[in-house]
Amino acid sequence: MRGIKLAKNIGFCSGVRRAINIVEETLSHSKSKVYSLGPVIHNPEVIKQLEKKNLCIVDSLDNLERSSVLVLPSHGTPRKILDIAKKKNLRLVDVTCPYVSLVQKICNMLHNQGLEVIIVGDRGHPEIKALLDLAPGAHTIDNIKDIKENVFSHKKIGIISQTTQTKDIFFEVVSKILQKNPLVKEVHTYNTICLDTVHRQDEVKKLAKSVDVLLIVGSRLSANTKRLLSMGRKINKRTYLVENEGTPLDKVLKNTDKVGLISGASTPEWLVKEIVRKIREATTYGAK
Ligand code: SF4
Repeated sequence: MRGIKLAKNIGFCSGVRRAINIVEETLSHSKSKVYSLGPVIHNPEVIKQLEKKNLCIVDSLDNLERSSVLVLPSHGTPRKILDIAKKKNLRLVDVTCPYVSLVQKICNMLHNQGLEVIIVGDRGHPEIKALLDLAPGAHTIDNIKDIKENVFSHKKIGIISQTTQTKDIFFEVVSKILQKNPLVKEVHTYNTICLDTVHRQDEVKKLAKSVDVLLIVGSRLSANTKRLLSMGRKINKRTYLVENEGTPLDKVLKNTDKVGLISGASTPEWLVKEIVRKIREATTYGAK
């Protein structure tokens, strides 16, 4: 039977929704310009809308006047940036996701307890950069091949994950570290993958098995969207990324009975609904 299977987890996660609400509220009340160093969230469609409401995205704080309003992004801010902002007396609007803040606290706590901190996540991602500032000397592992033998012998280690990491990769890395470091003295493991991420990843696995084509709506800049895409593809080769309304769908939907749709955590619900509308328009599929 032909149909569209829509995931339960579509649209913004709670952290992104909160961030966008705060930014919109700030934009509607602020009498002066509101700046953001880089995108507040990783979705160009949403950023375009915020720019229309006068959010100014800058790539450096150099030209900002003293006391300007600066939004700190949902994925956390490196210490260096916070120090510059302080020196310039910028008025900060912090939209860091509360869950990201919690992981930052755990990271800092492990460091203060004298443990060597290991973060399982994407090297260079802003969330990881902010965590590294809270645990100087911490190790980032973004590839299981990076794990060396006996690096942590006789040491106490604390392992945490990026909030958007996959459970499979996290536990694979933890077990590889233990395998390659049999003489490690103490291991403290915190699974800090956020619940929204876990729910979307569980759902993508189920959907990938039950449809002919799986569409992941979101930006290629978003870490959690990219992970949904690669998880879906491992199970169903006909898994595709749909970034916006302009993404052509005719080819990918050819000879398809059932289409599944899920979105990344920074994708607005209206965009998912728009893609559903496009599919209905282009095909004879009914909604399910
Ligand atoms: S994906 Fe999780 S950690 Fe990231 S903003 Fe959303 S709720 Fe927060």
